[in-house]
Parts: sequence; C-alpha cells; structure tokens
Amino acid sequence: MSGLGGDAQGIDAGHVGQIGEMDLRVRALESVLVDKGYVDPAALDDLIDTYETRIGPRNGARVVARAWLDASYRDWLLSEATAAIASLGYTGRQSEHMIAVENTPQRHNLVVCTLCSCYPWAVLGLPPTWYKSAPYRSRAVRDPRGVLAEFGVTLSPDTDIRVWDSTAEIRYLVVPMRPAGSEGLDEDALAALVTRDSMIGTGLAHTPEATDP
Ligand code: FE
Repeated sequence: MSGLGGDAQGIDAGHVGQIGEMDLRVRALESVLVDKGYVDPAALDDLIDTYETRIGPRNGARVVARAWLDASYRDWLLSEATAAIASLGYTGRQSEHMIAVENTPQRHNLVVCTLCSCYPWAVLGLPPTWYKSAPYRSRAVRDPRGVLAEFGVTLSPDTDIRVWDSTAEIRYLVVPMRPAGSEGLDEDALAALVTRDSMIGTGLAHTPEATDP
C-alpha cells in the first residue's frame, strides 16, 4: 500500500482550512496534556487504535452478519439503512443518513470521501489513516481496480466496481459478500468474519478457514 500513504492536507481549499485548524487544536491540546503529565501518548495511540480497528467496526460487523442471516433485515437495510442500523442500537454523529450497498458477483462497491474524510462513525468507528490520505481519495475514483490490487483484492474482470463518494450528508456501508464455507455459522461467528475494510470495500470478508487457527 505504499502508494496510499501521505498527507491528507493540501488538496481542497474549502475543507482543508477546517481540517488544518482542527488538527492544530488537537495537537496543541495533546501536547499540553502530555507536558502536564495528564495523558500518556502511548495510551492515546492505544485508544485511537481501539476505535479504529476494534470497537468501532464491530458495530458494522453485527449489521452485516444480521443481513447475511435474515433476508427481511437485509431488505430493510438496503432500502432504509439508517433505520435498520438504528434498530440494532447504532446511531450517532456522522451516521445520521446511511446508505447500505451490497456486493454481488456482478458489482463491487468501494467507498471514498473525495473531499475530506466523511465516514460512518457509528458503524465503523474512526477512519483509518489511509482513508483520509490524498492518494486514496483521488485514486479510488480514477483507478479503483488498481487501489483494490494494492489492498490485495483482485476481482473478476467481469465484476463492475462502483465508487461511492461520501459527503457530510450521506455515509455508505458496504455489505460484503457472505464468504463460502460460512453456511451454518451463527451471528457471532459471522460477525467475526467481517473486517473493517470489507465494509469500506477495500477488502473482502474472511473465510472461516482463514479466521480459524
Ligand atoms: Fe469528507
């Protein structure tokens, strides 16, 4: 993923002013707290990692697992995602207007925010650094297949890739395809197969063999 690092700032004048100022404020606050010994920077990193990769995306994984198991929930999710997601208790800022898009053998969905980093916090937690990076934001639109390849995802040439641009008003949740070999698993076991990246579209759900030791 070497091409996807980098600094998210410096691209869009309208959004960057906002991001830059907020970033400065956060950094200033963090350094005061660290200087005074109120917080440990390692603990902060831990906290961020928790919301980026553990607690946050587990909510979305429950939504996907339920959709895989329950056809009527799936239909509700695809037609009224905000309400279907809220019914499981996941609501909040940055997730007020959700749209769920389902991957199929014919179509793969990929989510980006070309302007900044709009992301469905209630179901995915905090966005990963690469999601906010300028290379991802521009290349996801221009060359989605190339971006997917860098994430290790190779799709059939027959699969169309649809790129969804998040905005301040609309956030997307990708419902990945249910993996082969997951028949008969319960909701907990299915949720464990759903990765954060699979709900952004930069990954696929794990197969049970890949997850089991
Ligand atoms: Fe944004």
